[in-house]
Amino acid sequence: MRCTILSDVHGNLDALEAVLGDAAQQGALDEIWCLGDLVGYGPQPNECIAALRDRNALCVAGNHDWAAIGKMDTAEFNPEATEAAVWTSQQLTEDNRAYLDALPAQLSVGPSGEFTLVHGSPREPIWEYLTHVSIARLNFDYFQTPYCLVGHTHVPLVFQRPLPSEKTPHYRTLVPSAGVPLELGEHRLIVNPGSVGQPRDGNPAAAYMVYDSAGTGATGATLTMRRIEYAVPAVQEKMRSAQLPPRLILRLTYGW
Ligand code: ZN
Repeated sequence: MRCTILSDVHGNLDALEAVLGDAAQQGALDEIWCLGDLVGYGPQPNECIAALRDRNALCVAGNHDWAAIGKMDTAEFNPEATEAAVWTSQQLTEDNRAYLDALPAQLSVGPSGEFTLVHGSPREPIWEYLTHVSIARLNFDYFQTPYCLVGHTHVPLVFQRPLPSEKTPHYRTLVPSAGVPLELGEHRLIVNPGSVGQPRDGNPAAAYMVYDSAGTGATGATLTMRRIEYAVPAVQEKMRSAQLPPRLILRLTYGW
């Protein structure tokens, strides 16, 4: 089984199509696992939802998905994010609005249900940012599966819990490298694949991960991050036409 793990598409259809094209070449479309924030910021929210619905992606809800349908207010958003949420809300079709409203906050997936999917964290699925190991370590007691997949920060990162048998147990943070398989073994992990539509790790290329249940790891399974370049100026042009905030347009150039 080979699956595509993607997050934070944010209405960026050009980036999503580039990722799905690459995933097809990798033979990784057995299932698509989507970690929320399908919309918000980007110029093509309906098209992104359609692309994922057409492929029967298994999706959880993100804070921007809820904001765009009025399921939560935008009090904690910055002014540009709020402006984009209002614009997105005006664009969404009734059908896509209902789709976003029906997204669960959490899902279990994988050949034997190995993965919990949430947008933010297992403890606070919609809101909490797992930016540091000190926050991540508190979250391992909030999911039962060996591995948890999260998005929300737009930064690819892996948090690893020590095994009970380790003499000097400490939690580790791993920064995944594109193309280098991460072997899934005994250690429990929280994994962030990065963002498709608005990367924030200084690399503007779309980020996603491939799960391979028959890879080379101790359990036979691996996760591999991939970075896919796409035509950023084409998206920026669409954002200008939609009169979305200039700062949101600019940040795609730098991946910040
Ligand atoms: Zn996001």
